[in-house]
Amino acid sequence: MRLTMKFGGTSVGTGPRIAAVAGLVREAALQGHQVAVVVSAMSGVTDALIRAARTAAEGDPTTYRSIRDDLLMRHWQVVREVANPQEAGALNEEIRAVLDNLENLCRAIHVLGEVTPRAMDLISSLGERFTASLTAAALRAQGQPAEALLATELILTDATYGGANPDMAATRERTRGRLLPLLEHGVIPVVTGFMGATADGHVSTLGRGGSDYSGSLIGAAVDSDEVWIWTDVDGILTADPRVVPDAQTLPSVSFSEAADLAYYGAKVLHPKSILPAVERGIPIRIKNTFNPSHPGTVVISHSEANGRTVKAITAIKGLSLVTVEGKGMLGVPGVAAKVFGAVADAGVNVLMISQSSSEQSICFTVLAESSARVVASLERAFELELARRNIDRIVAQDGVGIVSVVGAGMKAVPGIAGKVFGALGRAGINVISIAQGSSEHTMSMVLAEADLVRAVQGIHAEFELGRPVAEALAAS
Ligand code: ADP
Ligand code: ASP
Ligand code: MG
Repeated sequence: MRLTMKFGGTSVGTGPRIAAVAGLVREAALQGHQVAVVVSAMSGVTDALIRAARTAAEGDPTTYRSIRDDLLMRHWQVVREVANPQEAGALNEEIRAVLDNLENLCRAIHVLGEVTPRAMDLISSLGERFTASLTAAALRAQGQPAEALLATELILTDATYGGANPDMAATRERTRGRLLPLLEHGVIPVVTGFMGATADGHVSTLGRGGSDYSGSLIGAAVDSDEVWIWTDVDGILTADPRVVPDAQTLPSVSFSEAADLAYYGAKVLHPKSILPAVERGIPIRIKNTFNPSHPGTVVISHSEANGRTVKAITAIKGLSLVTVEGKGMLGVPGVAAKVFGAVADAGVNVLMISQSSSEQSICFTVLAESSARVVASLERAFELELARRNIDRIVAQDGVGIVSVVGAGMKAVPGIAGKVFGALGRAGINVISIAQGSSEHTMSMVLAEADLVRAVQGIHAEFELGRPVAEALAAS
């Protein structure tokens, strides 16, 4: 089989973890599989790099220097732990050169007093350079030929820094040209996750958590039989195990269920990572590097019944609910188009929409950090209507989040909403707004942020999702 394996930040978080990752890859290669590898930065490194640039821009001349020193020590330690002694000197120099570059960039940012999105992408993606080199070195130290590669050579993107969009056709061509000869000669390519490059050759990033996307882009480009996302939990669970300790692993979910789960906050998989796999029908497997014998979760084209209507509960915080309200909106065609046109002009993504005509309002949720921009754009678009009082108010309510209930088995099953609201009511939780798409796979509710954890726990318990999945299947 041809496999693409992506390893997340915790999985490559220390020298021993990188050695363990190399062991997993080598084992698959020894079983006769062709393996391409994509790696994230070590856990915490991307955050530290972003902090270095931000503090420099804010006029702080010391934090970036101490971050540089910490990163040097942390990565040099890994060199000692995983690399062949003959390679150690060159690796140490490579790491020092990248970090000297970081320091120079931060010094310039400090002088300028600002950091552009393009400079931020260059800086925030440096951590992946280290882990690609270190993981390839760990493989070689274990006797497995491997080569570290920068995704700037492979993934061509537009210039939307901070969340760049790949050109699929060009990415496929470049990736095949570079990776297939390596795979065919038994050399493991180890590619930096998270980054790409624009046509002008500037480094771009795919958005936070975007190494999953890199994994599926590379996996699709080389026609992998499967893409394996290795992380720190046993697959996709019925809820975030940090919120619900008795959450259970789902053996399988469909592409569309996974897309909804990821979109509505299941951090285990980046939402954009589904599409490249769907397009080529490539299964995505989510596995735990800390528990590699566990089968994990497979994401496939169809939904398999698991004895339950509801499969999982997710939550996403840090949102704002924007409401456009006014008597003059009732029955007037084109208002919704104008509202979402204004939101698009502000370059903002909408997470959930709901409209209630009796209240003559449209409300939708956006990330809290973009709510001021959205309101300003709406006020511009509806200037006349506001002056004529056809629209009474445009307001943003911060401090909200969304809880979503996901499962293809919910379709056409009565009583799901009753159970969800029953659970929320008993927990004394007020529901601010509700939406369910016509696919009936997902029902989402806007709640106060402070209620999110209790809502997830209450709904999880209501549907008895803490019972082992096999038990639920037997009982169904
Ligand atoms: P990585 O660094 O490997 O990319 P992430 O931290 O991005 O890992 O994603 C894994 C984390 O996602 C888990 O540790 C878990 O806390 C969180 N998570 C949220 N929702 C879910 C879910 N439904 N199933 C599994 N993990 C989840
Ligand atoms: N290192 C990047 C981040 O922290 C990408 C990733 O880990 O997926 O966002
Ligand atoms: Mg992640």
